[in-house]
Formats: sequence, C-alpha cells, structure tokens
Amino acid sequence: MTSSARPFLNRRLTEFGTTIFAEMSALAVTTGSINLGQGFPDTDGPEEVREAAVRALRDGRGNQYPPGPGVPELRAAIAAHQERRYGLAYDPDTEVLVTAGATEAIAAALLALLEPGDEVVALEPYYDSYAACIAMAGGRRVPVTLRPSEGGFRLDLDELRDAVTDRTRLLLINTPHNPTGTVLTREELRAIAELAVERDLLVVTDEVYEHLVFDEAEHVPLATFPGMRERTVTIGSAGKTFSFTGWKVGWVTAAPGLVTAVRSAKQFLTYVASGPFQYAAAEALRLPDAYFTAFRDDLRAKRDLLGAGLADAGFTVFRPAGTYFVTTDIRPLGESDGFAFCRALPERAGVVAIPNAVFYDHKEAGAPYVRFAFCKRVEVLADATERLHKAFAR
Ligand SMILES: *Cc1c(COP(=O)(O)O)cnc(C)c1O
Repeated sequence: MTSSARPFLNRRLTEFGTTIFAEMSALAVTTGSINLGQGFPDTDGPEEVREAAVRALRDGRGNQYPPGPGVPELRAAIAAHQERRYGLAYDPDTEVLVTAGATEAIAAALLALLEPGDEVVALEPYYDSYAACIAMAGGRRVPVTLRPSEGGFRLDLDELRDAVTDRTRLLLINTPHNPTGTVLTREELRAIAELAVERDLLVVTDEVYEHLVFDEAEHVPLATFPGMRERTVTIGSAGKTFSFTGWKVGWVTAAPGLVTAVRSAKQFLTYVASGPFQYAAAEALRLPDAYFTAFRDDLRAKRDLLGAGLADAGFTVFRPAGTYFVTTDIRPLGESDGFAFCRALPERAGVVAIPNAVFYDHKEAGAPYVRFAFCKRVEVLADATERLHKAFAR
C-alpha cells in the first residue's frame, strides 16, 4: 500500500473515529429537540466560585503557567477534602496531582502505567474515553459487563475474578458509574480490593460523581480498603461536583510513586491547564457541607422528575443510585435497537438521548438501553417529559 492510500487515522484508533455525541447534538439542533444526551448542567455552579475565578484572573493568579503538579492552594484543598470526607490522608506535595479534568487524569494514568499488551479489566458499559485511552496506551481491554438485576445494573464478582489473568495489570473502576447510575456497595468494593491485593493489581478508580449519591447509597473510595492505598490511583473532578464542566479541573490522589508516574505522562499531554480556575476550584472544595447536600438533593429531585416522566411514557427505568444519568430499557415500547430508537427520537418526540450500546464492546448486551441526562433545569425536564408523554404514552 502506498502512503497516500494508507488511512490517516492509525489502527489503534480507527474504531473511535466518530462519537455519537457529535451526531446526536447536531440532531438536537436541526430538530429543535431538548438535548438530554450529553451530560453537562444547563446552569452554572455557585456564584461565589465563579467570582473566585474572576478574582484570580484579575489578580493575575494562574494567568501564566501554573506549577506542573497544580497550584499549592488547590493541592492542599484536595488533600483536605479527601481527609475530611473519607479519612484519607494525602501529602499535597507528593501525593496530589492536578490535571486538565478527569479526562486527562484517565489518559495520563493509563499511558503511564500500562506496557503494550497489558490487560485492563474494566466495567462495561464504559465511560467513552476509557476504551480509547487503553488503546492509545497499547493495552488490551477486558470488559466485565454490569447486568440488569433488581432494578439496577450489578457487577458479578465471579465474572470479575474470572476476567483477571496473568497479563492483567490494572483494574479500571468507576463508581458512581456512568451510564448506569450504579454505586458499588461496600461489600462489592471490599471484594474488588481483595482481588487487587491477591493478584497484585493496580487500580485506577474514577470517582468524579462522588458527591452525587442518592437515598441509602454511599460512596466509599476504593483507596480506603486494606492494602489499597499504595496501589490505587483515585480520580476526581471539579466539573461534575461544582457544575463547571468547561473549566477542566481534575485531580489524582495516590501514593508518591504512582503520582510521579502519572505526572511523567501528564507533563507531555497538557503540561498544565486551567490556571485561574485552579484557584476557584480550591475555594469550591472548601464550601461548607450544606453546599454538597443541597446539590445532591437538587439532583435527586431532578432524577425523580425525569424518572417518573420516563416511566409514565412507558420506558422501564433503572433508578440510578448516583450520577446524573438514568438508563432506561426501551423494550416495553416495542423497540429493541437503541441506536435506531435514538436516531428517530428527535423527530418522534423532540428529545435527544444516547444509546448505551456505544459504551459496550458487547453491543448486543447494551442494545435495548438508552441513557438520559437529568442535570437540566426543572422546566426543561418537565418539557421533555411532556414531549415523551405525547409521543409514547397510551
Ligand atoms: C464527565 C466524566 C469524566 C470527565 O471529567 P472531566 O473532569 O470533565 O474531564 C470522567 N469520567 C466520568 C465517568 C465522567 O462522567
């Protein structure tokens, strides 16, 4: 093959050529639909946090390259947050790294920790960047599928154990889990931790929805379990917790050797990012507990509003215990192909959703599921449920 006949995009990435989000967001615009596809809030976070960013900009803090590991104020605030919420003590100087959102933290961790050919066991359906980052790192992904059971999607611990081989380097965990809304229980997390210790695995755990946990569910960081602190890279983000997804302030907390490794990759991705926003994120992390409680209660009410509307329209609703997504089953509507359903939904109902199959390697396992985001204003959700009622309710 001549070089001109060779495709531009390399083989590692061909399967990731286009994302469904671009297609669906474009459809939302051309059809005037309510976009419940992509997960970003339609109102900004706390005014005092926004003002903190303005102040940092004006005062000339962070307008030039901030320090590689992140500004000291933010690293201290991240360490204080982990200590206050979870009793996890991290040294802000050696065990905390600020990243360009959780997205860069995921990429840097996988690029740093994997050798080509290493296997990564991850929970399917996956957040969309996991598969691409494993591929960029030359790793091999091994999915363990969360299966519908008792109104939610659950992990089969035997399947997880069976997925680990001598080539497994790392478990990639996400709790609270996007897109299913599953929050792994303390017992499940303990079993994951025991497996990691027994098989001497690294663990990368994406906990960006740590503050969006509803009802009786509880977020327990994997790093709190015996033997886990030294093998776990914990990823957090200001985007989801404070409703400033455009700021791209994320972080890693881990033992010094792991942070140093992740930083080695991170320094050649963005080097640094989000200077003034880092100062604002530091203030956000120091908000009183009342902020976090009110934020969670607000999202829970929105979950209930959209969930009730979807159930009324005839969907089977898997009530999420966390995150700001709700997964539905479209089979009660006489449908079975989530892709076709989501492509038709804007014309049919004036609403945009995402087919969960895009988050699966086993496409057939995800085929009948469709994800809606409920991090939108109440009037937007009410409008959406009315549209769905008109289109589907009998
Ligand atoms: C949104 C999201 C991210 C990305 O977070 P950013 O801080 O915006 O980069 C990572 N993981 C999951 C599961 C997410 O939903």
